[in-house]
Amino acid sequence: MMFRLALLAALFAATASLAGEGPAATGQVVVILPFGKVEPALLEGIAREVRARVNAETRVDAVRPLPKAAFYAPRNRWRAEKLLEAIDADPPLGAWKVLAVTEAEISTTKGQVHDWGIAGLGNIGGQSCVVTGYLYRKHGKTRADLVRRLNDTAVHELGHTLGLDHCPTVGCVMRDAKGNAIKSTDTSTGQYCALCRAKVGEGVLLPGQPVPPPTE
Ligand SMILES: [Zn+2]
Ligand SMILES: [Zn+2]
Repeated sequence: MMFRLALLAALFAATASLAGEGPAATGQVVVILPFGKVEPALLEGIAREVRARVNAETRVDAVRPLPKAAFYAPRNRWRAEKLLEAIDADPPLGAWKVLAVTEAEISTTKGQVHDWGIAGLGNIGGQSCVVTGYLYRKHGKTRADLVRRLNDTAVHELGHTLGLDHCPTVGCVMRDAKGNAIKSTDTSTGQYCALCRAKVGEGVLLPGQPVPPPTE
């Protein structure tokens, strides 16, 4: 029994160090946190996108069940701001930022609409954000579309936690989706623009691709 425990611990350590590889010297860790069952390939894909842009390591954590307190029974879906509250109340150990990923349908209040379905939500300057593949699976045709849109949303919501609000630059990943996540992700370059890069503190972002001017 002792031996098995030790072996498990060794396996876990090996997994953790593999997942944590990255360019970072900062020791800052972005924890990718699955809320409910999420395909590991999607989680790893998001982790790669984060490591390509942010000067931090990534770690994919074990699944957490969706917290009951966030369930919105009238629409049979989950309130995103309550998911973030649940993370902030019990953040993963050592997390600098937490990027929660789910396949569940999520919503929040948007203007006059009390319960509006969304693809992601992030606290500006906060610790946590959440994205879902739900809308992209429902309305997308190909896996490539799902992956691209989900990754773009993850980079966008993480940007909010880095202190960024919505951005007017065409093609910037921080553009306001204006209620249409699919259209927004399809016109995004997936990159933070110069304006956004200037707003984020020194050394937080890695050198990125420039956002090209619009081609319309
Ligand atoms: Zn946003
Ligand atoms: Zn921008």
